[in-house]
Amino acid sequence: MSTETIFSRIIRREIPTNILYQDDLVTAFSDIAPQAKTHILIIPNKIIPTVNEVSSEDEQTLGRLFTVAAKLAKEAGIAEDGYRLIVNCNKHGGQEVFHLHMHLVGGEPLGKMLAK
Ligand code: 5GP
Repeated sequence: MSTETIFSRIIRREIPTNILYQDDLVTAFSDIAPQAKTHILIIPNKIIPTVNEVSSEDEQTLGRLFTVAAKLAKEAGIAEDGYRLIVNCNKHGGQEVFHLHMHLVGGEPLGKMLAK
């Protein structure tokens, strides 16, 4: 079963959110608690709780996450210096919202990939 999270309400524009991009497959918006100068979330409109529930039917949607990430990185002026795309999964991945999402973070040096 796919349970709605706050992200479904953001997709439906029911709560005030800085939506940067939306089409038939994905929605992108500013993270409410940015971890870097640029921190954008790009999410499928369809509820996929975690990467564990991804299926081959989702390949077009998941590909769109990357094309929108590339577009928004260029628009934010961070493409050339670079950025990081993150998808957390479940407890060990630190996932808090169970609606699959890609974090686009950058705008400053991000350090090593994993903090230990
Ligand atoms: P996760 O830890 O699940 O990978 O990341 C969830 C992200 O969603 C966090 O970076 C958190 O700040 C963001 N977030 C949670 N609730 C909201 C919200 O209501 N609005 C926005 N814009 N971001 C949210």
